[in-house]
Amino acid sequence: MAEASALKKSLPKINKVDAPYWQAAAAGKLVLQKCRDCGKVQFFPRVACVDCFSGALDWVEAKGAGKIHSFTWVRVPRNPAFKEDAPICYINVMLDEGVIVESRLVGDSKDKVKMGDRVRVVFQETHSPEIKLPMFELMGSPR
Ligand SMILES: [Zn+2]
Repeated sequence: MAEASALKKSLPKINKVDAPYWQAAAAGKLVLQKCRDCGKVQFFPRVACVDCFSGALDWVEAKGAGKIHSFTWVRVPRNPAFKEDAPICYINVMLDEGVIVESRLVGDSKDKVKMGDRVRVVFQETHSPEIKLPMFELMGSPR
């Protein structure tokens, strides 16, 4: 069996619809889609507005801040490539823009996480130069 460090972590497969999201993330920006017709903001990226079905969607930069909506700990990842990251804190963040994003909590103080804690986005490098993963850390964490 291969060493954990030799295993490659799985990465998102970028498609035509979400390519602008991943390009922004690689540049250190969190973006969301906003409907030009009804003004609704949505996540994850889609071809049409989930509210009015308009295809007129713009990309807007999010503040990158929100609060913990839910979280859970994974102590034994199914994919052995993530073993070195365990325990992993998976979170749902309610962004200040009103949409929920799924991500991971990172940083030295992640063990102190509580429901409703304020978080801010950080971007984690991967083995692909084109992909940086938006993750979150608790506000007040040292940078
Ligand atoms: Zn709409």
